[in-house]
Amino acid sequence: MAEKKLEGKIALVTGAGRGIGKAIALELAASGATVIVNYNGSQQAAQETVDTITAAGGSAKAIQCNVSDFAACQEMVQNVIKEFGRVDILVNNAGVTRDGLIMRISEEDYDKVLDTNLKGAFNTIRHLSKYFIKQRSGKIINIASVSGVMGNAGQANYSASKAGLIGLTKSVARELASRGINVNAVAPGFVDTDMTQAMGDKAKEQIAGMIPLGHMGKTEDIAKTVLFLASSDADYITGQVLCVDGGMCI
Ligand code: NAP
Repeated sequence: MAEKKLEGKIALVTGAGRGIGKAIALELAASGATVIVNYNGSQQAAQETVDTITAAGGSAKAIQCNVSDFAACQEMVQNVIKEFGRVDILVNNAGVTRDGLIMRISEEDYDKVLDTNLKGAFNTIRHLSKYFIKQRSGKIINIASVSGVMGNAGQANYSASKAGLIGLTKSVARELASRGINVNAVAPGFVDTDMTQAMGDKAKEQIAGMIPLGHMGKTEDIAKTVLFLASSDADYITGQVLCVDGGMCI
């Protein structure tokens, strides 16, 4: 039987109905955490994540919130604290892409990506940090991207949001370290999800050629890293960016 490293912990995972967020929710729940499955539009998918967790004997609840909305995030955090009493783990996973060359990215697409990927993480951290500080414990894990580390042609908005998220991670890590709170980022490479599904086979082949390990990642690869950072095994790690990318960032 898997060791229950997160027994009794409460985890909030944003964008957990689909893709990487779903895999993170399942992994944390399998390790004993009660998981709050945040979603924006995918109610059915979020309910399926919850049902999968409960069918396996775990505990989870779905909660709707657009993370880019400051006031809505405050309400979500207040509701979660009211119902569960605390949060031990926050995973900022919600993210979108609106790819395009710099001359073609619209203001709307720039704002959408920054508002979701960067402001979304700010919003949840901003509203939850006072509870983490009161508890004198907490693990914050932000899902960044290799695009935020290396840049990527055609993703200026997305790269900016993820590089910003890395800056946010490091600054908040410095601020909250003395309160026993760990703040880290995971930077996935190319992972097989809806986000990357839209790419053609040729683009996928090209990308595989850029990955030293030679293939795309699985959502579980990211989830296992998040579990490590969320557990006491990573108590002495803060302000770091862990690239889970098959070696792309070497
Ligand atoms: P995905 O399959 O497209 O899923 C995106 C998730 O984000 C969905 O659950 C979606 O929820 C949620 N979301 C989007 N906007 C939201 C909002 N305003 N409020 C709340 N939730 C919102 O993407 P993915 O590939 O799993 O990506 C997950 C994270 O990993 C993202 O941050 C992404 O940038 C990062 N990442 C992915 C890759 C990759 O190769 N796939 C690589 C590097 C980094 P709803 O459906 O409910 O809207």
